[in-house]
Amino acid sequence: YLGYNFFMRLRDLKLTNYRNCKDLHLDLSCPKVLIIGKNAQGKTNILESIYFLSALKSPRTSNNIELINFEAEKAEINCNMIKAETDVELDFSYSNEKKRELALNKVKTTPKNFKSVLKTVLFSTADLLLLRGNPSDRRDWLDRAIAQIYPAYDDRLSKYDKIRIQKNNLLKDYLKTGILNDTLLDVYNEQLVITGSNIIYLRKKFLKEIERIASEKHRIISETEDLKIDYDCSFLNGEYEPEEIVEAFKASLEERRAEEMRRGQSCVGPHRDDIIFYINGNEAVKFASQGQQRTIVLALKLSELDIITAKTGDEPVLLLDDVLAELDDIRQNYLLKSINENTQTIITSVDTVLFEDEFLKDVKIYKIEAGRVI
Ligand code: ATP
Ligand code: MG
Repeated sequence: YLGYNFFMRLRDLKLTNYRNCKDLHLDLSCPKVLIIGKNAQGKTNILESIYFLSALKSPRTSNNIELINFEAEKAEINCNMIKAETDVELDFSYSNEKKRELALNKVKTTPKNFKSVLKTVLFSTADLLLLRGNPSDRRDWLDRAIAQIYPAYDDRLSKYDKIRIQKNNLLKDYLKTGILNDTLLDVYNEQLVITGSNIIYLRKKFLKEIERIASEKHRIISETEDLKIDYDCSFLNGEYEPEEIVEAFKASLEERRAEEMRRGQSCVGPHRDDIIFYINGNEAVKFASQGQQRTIVLALKLSELDIITAKTGDEPVLLLDDVLAELDDIRQNYLLKSINENTQTIITSVDTVLFEDEFLKDVKIYKIEAGRVI
């Protein structure tokens, strides 16, 4: 990291048979872009496609077939962008035969290299429900945020999941047959402890950092409230060194071995953990109003942007899907004012009434209807 930041800038986005966008071309070479359209016209689809280039994963589905237009065989996303003052081209396609093609500057590349180019922070109305959602929603949010900073994190997560599934299969076999391969269970547990402790360590570290930044933002928006964030893990209670996490995880697996055998599943580890938010010491899910919960999410998203910038030197592209309408004036203003003027921001909305003339002056506006610019 060189000590100064580069702004990512999308310049050109072309969607071909991507959901309802059969042939859409957007010139995005402007720091602020507003996409206006009635319901079900393709606004979210456009932001989804941009997010997809950064994560190779849709925030809405894990089945990429859904991205292909109903009447077509192949969906394509082509994007020209500037990163670290250099032109970069990203090309993605996915076919009905589940064939995925990735190219970086017209040369075939790996998912890992492809994902490392574009960084985005997506803030959508679904995120506003983060606090009230399932623990798995909160883990996903946290994991995606960490993966943008440590590209190796995704590998670690999938490794952990793979071992956990193998262990579950072993335990299920035991339930069926009554015979357990003890040595194999020990091996799985050992591997789970190694990868799982590392995942927990990184999550706790990231949360501490995001808590520091988000609580400051949160105090500015709410004026008085104090935000605290806790990583909730059944065998940890407080701050731990990496070796202590390893020891605690090991002990917990030992202690619950009989229970895991009885239930035929893995009962402890990062796949069961959660994140708990407190306002002035009270658990936000139970006591905070909807507006207070939204404030937390707003503070989290803006902090995510700051952390990615600080860690990678690349200022991510901010994607705001319909969120302004869900926030009150104070929060809308805070959001729009706190975005660095150079941070490329792509906003969708049903109309322009929410935006002040001052803001609209420097914005490129597209109107979308049935997946087309009108
Ligand atoms: P809202 O304001 O309600 O959020 P939106 O403009 O964000 O609307 P999108 O979520 O982008 O709307 O969806 C637009 C349309 O795309 C929907 O009507 C949906 O049926 C359609 N759509 C989704 N997937 C596909 C697909 N694979 N092929 C064709 N159309 C699709
Ligand atoms: Mg939408």
